[in-house]
Amino acid sequence: MARIIGIDLGTTNSCVAVQDEGGTPRVLAAPDGRRTTPSVVAYTGGKNSESVLVGEKALRQAITNPKRTVLGTKRLIGRKVNAKDVAWFARSAPFKIVAAPNGDSWVKIDDTTKSPQEIASHVLRHLRWIAEQALGEPVTRAVVTVPAYFDDAQRQATRDAGTIAGLDICRILNEPTAAALAYGAHRVKAGRRIIAVFDLGGGTFDVSIMAVENSVFEVLATNGDSALGGDDWDRVLIDFLVDAVFDEHRIDLSSDAVAMGRLKEAAEAAKRALSSESSTTISLPFLHQGIGPDPIHLEKKITRQQLDDLSSSLLQRLREPCTRAMKDADLSPSDIEEVLLVGGMSRLPAVQEMVESIFQRPASKCANPDEVVALGAAAHASILAGDEDEATLLDVTAHTIGIKVGSSGFAPIIKRNSMLPVREHKLFATNIDDQEFVEVEIYQGEADTISGNRRLGQVHLHDLPKGKAGTVRIRLTVTVDVESILRVTATELSTGNSAQVRIAPSGGLSQEDLSDIVEQRRLREMAQPADPE
Ligand code: AMP
Repeated sequence: MARIIGIDLGTTNSCVAVQDEGGTPRVLAAPDGRRTTPSVVAYTGGKNSESVLVGEKALRQAITNPKRTVLGTKRLIGRKVNAKDVAWFARSAPFKIVAAPNGDSWVKIDDTTKSPQEIASHVLRHLRWIAEQALGEPVTRAVVTVPAYFDDAQRQATRDAGTIAGLDICRILNEPTAAALAYGAHRVKAGRRIIAVFDLGGGTFDVSIMAVENSVFEVLATNGDSALGGDDWDRVLIDFLVDAVFDEHRIDLSSDAVAMGRLKEAAEAAKRALSSESSTTISLPFLHQGIGPDPIHLEKKITRQQLDDLSSSLLQRLREPCTRAMKDADLSPSDIEEVLLVGGMSRLPAVQEMVESIFQRPASKCANPDEVVALGAAAHASILAGDEDEATLLDVTAHTIGIKVGSSGFAPIIKRNSMLPVREHKLFATNIDDQEFVEVEIYQGEADTISGNRRLGQVHLHDLPKGKAGTVRIRLTVTVDVESILRVTATELSTGNSAQVRIAPSGGLSQEDLSDIVEQRRLREMAQPADPE
């Protein structure tokens, strides 16, 4: 049977891995040897042209094509444009984020708008191509990871991106679960273990507190900072270098886009070097044509201590999300048995020291924290393909499902992390005499009031029998099946009359939208064969 690949579709970088029968998971490198791919898509060529670059090639031209180069699509997928963090991202993104007719966040490229699903599909297709090159066989199925806090809409939108890329997404897996699987956290001992997964990537920081028992990974709490990541470390280094040039030459490099692009590359490389060396030298000849006849050459030694001093406020920002996650899980550092490091930035010694200080224990490290999520996805894919006789990971609901009560209250019915399939009942009664109908509104989320949660739909039950308030009783049955499809049935108990609503997760695109996109892409490629790489 064809293999199922594991994909870590990241905010900054993505990675693809596979596990051969009975083997250990391994990363599939691109033909040029790169093991991760920037999650960047660029639209190039003439106005409104569909010529697309993905990954490293897209990143390299970002500085000269900022309005048509899309980074951080993961921040938009399945999200409404008026969400607070989307609005924040829209303010700083060099490309234009606009509202789709249903309020979803889309991206405007020239005169056309594109859904994040379409944009992300290019990254998935590129990863599929890398896998096919490395394996020498066609790939059609994948397990894709998402953050544990992604709601149904974000998960479904990620699935839809897979469909557009021609991939059957066999499972959407939580990133911390994938990381814990790759670390073998479920094999350490029998019984329940509490672990923390600390994930600091290029643009985001996530921390998850998990319970692991019998190969079931339960996310107890998640927290993080969606505006904190390796890019911020790069930025403090860039600011430092711009200041140094200004002090020496009285020239402000910040308006020289090409020089800033080179500085960004050099700052990132210096930061990487400083995770294994105590000092490094940034050397950028001909960085800027100064006012006089002589160009500016930059040669600057930077020590690890300097980087730590410059980034001390960033390091401090790692603490609170961890403390809040432990508090939400009702746990203290002494309850956490292991801390797993994930994300390229967790290689930085100062970050590791901060983790140790927060959780009061040294963290477990692996050789490549930026690959560990993809490796876990591949391990899970291998379980799904039946290669492993290991107990199958059970799927759980990502969020609590409940109903609106009173004018704005939220009454949970199915708790977050309930094993799928799950069914719960709730009995309630009419609250006025001769009430003719009930209308039950269904919400998903963890807030106490509906305003903080996402509305999924409603069920109406009409023609209730006459009776005094409190005497007509209605049973509500809420079921979520293994495909995460939700069914809510309201039944009046004396007559057996019932009404049902079926709510399949929607990522914002309908089946017709998806078929349309796939068909249009097929036609375009027939007219002009794509260079997937
Ligand atoms: P990820 O999103 O997990 O791929 O992490 C990407 C971030 O990790 C980027 O900001 C990289 O600069 C950073 N990173 C990768 N490798 C290293 C390293 N050896 N030392 C410090 N930072 C690194």
